[in-house]
Amino acid sequence: MTARRDNPSVVIIGAGMTGILMAIRMKQAGISNVTVLEKKESAGGTWRENTYPGVACDVPSHAYTYSFEPNPNWSSHFPAGREIHQYFKDVVSKYGVDSQIHFNEPATSCIYNDATQTWTVTTALGQYEADLLISATGILHHPNIPAFRGMESFAGACFHTARWDHSVELTGKRIGVIGTGSTAAQVIPELVNTAGTEVSVFQRTPQWTVSMEDHQFSDEEKQRFARSPWRMGLIRKMSAFVYSRGTAALTGDSWFDRLTHKIMAWNGRKTIENAVADPELRARLTPDYEFGCKRVVITSKFYDAIQQPNAHLVTDGIDCVEPEGIRTTDGKLHKLDIIVMATGFDPTAFMRPMEFLGSQGLSIEQAWEKKITAYRSMFLPHFPNFVLMLGPNSPIGNQSVIEISEIQANYLMQLVDDWRDGRLEAIEASEEATQRWAQLIKDKMKHTVWTSGCDSWYLDAEGDALTWPFTWNRWVKSMQSPDLQDFVRASPINATET
Ligand code: NAP
Repeated sequence: MTARRDNPSVVIIGAGMTGILMAIRMKQAGISNVTVLEKKESAGGTWRENTYPGVACDVPSHAYTYSFEPNPNWSSHFPAGREIHQYFKDVVSKYGVDSQIHFNEPATSCIYNDATQTWTVTTALGQYEADLLISATGILHHPNIPAFRGMESFAGACFHTARWDHSVELTGKRIGVIGTGSTAAQVIPELVNTAGTEVSVFQRTPQWTVSMEDHQFSDEEKQRFARSPWRMGLIRKMSAFVYSRGTAALTGDSWFDRLTHKIMAWNGRKTIENAVADPELRARLTPDYEFGCKRVVITSKFYDAIQQPNAHLVTDGIDCVEPEGIRTTDGKLHKLDIIVMATGFDPTAFMRPMEFLGSQGLSIEQAWEKKITAYRSMFLPHFPNFVLMLGPNSPIGNQSVIEISEIQANYLMQLVDDWRDGRLEAIEASEEATQRWAQLIKDKMKHTVWTSGCDSWYLDAEGDALTWPFTWNRWVKSMQSPDLQDFVRASPINATET
């Protein structure tokens, strides 16, 4: 083992859930030369950014937890964002990685130097040399803000859900919410329940939903979790099983998968039928695309909220924004004091915008010119010793994203071992393996529900989904151990067969 590889320098971009995880995994591997560059003032990523009323996790808390740091004190199955943010901050302190995090220091460029085989990472405050560069910037952090005509003329307050303006008083206001996705389903009930508000919901496409009731854990239950951690493990396993069955139903080819999909679709229709009394409103809230085509919205509150007298579902398209409100295509002006954009995110930006140049000056834009892809979602040819966590075709969906990051981290740490021990010259997927990987995904993608006719944030410019088109179990199996032959400059003697 060379001295450099014994304790390589590692730069991690982002101190969200994945960045924290990677800092801990590096520490556990005895790698101490780690710098985490965080663009904002605290760790926690999405849970720091999203502070809109009603923000919560729709994955059960005991599943949305690092496997190595169970938390018996979760207040409920679906705790508020604030509590989840605190969990991540506590983990940072407990595992002693806080000193490695450079807050308020966004990376502005990452450039690979072929001569030194290192990355130069530049921020407004300095430069860092890294043997290994890890992007842990998450998937949904660039707000999608549609450019409605006349937007700038609006006289009231207007903000995206991920940029909530807490200085704006909501009480007694006329609020327009654009969008009906997972975020909107959480924020709308809160706004409707705010005293004196009138809430107009601008729905372009209705959503399929699944109702999951929350449950507040009593002190006794929390004590039981602390005494018998297997109880938390059980919830985690049950949750993983349910979500993996759900994914199989959306991607699988067996009769059982198809039957499960039919049952889920039936349940989606029944949920609306049971929850929405007025047939006309029900019809407007019922999707005409396949169940699961868009990410299913988990909510037990949305239908109740939209039927309140102060809630108004608007299904005519948005024509333009005027100083007084939103004018829809039927010519009606919806007078508003506040516009809330629950309009989602750009999931294809990943670590951008920043200058990002791999070997021989290849830019990420050039590498992704034809298609945004990465070998096993994580590795790009010509970007040696660069790892993109939660990259394209990670099995995002309703599954716990922590589980996904942990599996990718395990896979990566095996490669790091191979690299440190000299079995790999660099952690860099070969062109051939990456193309093979992309083709495997593309061929299967056209048979999944995500490409069955709806529009969603899963879809790329070519209409392929950015998610994993096979079952969850197949993904877990495929991520057990790396095949070194798929990486360039692997020593054939040490290449493993998987
Ligand atoms: P989203 O699912 O992408 O929904 C965006 C909404 O805005 C959709 O209803 C969309 O309509 C609408 N919209 C976008 N552009 C529009 C335009 N120009 N005109 C009119 N409507 C427009 O975004 P999101 O609700 O923020 O959720 C994104 C993802 O974040 C989720 O799928 C989930 O993965 C994650 N999330 C998770 C949780 C959790 O608890 N774990 C909570 C919130 C979000 P169309 O459907 O017609 O495009």
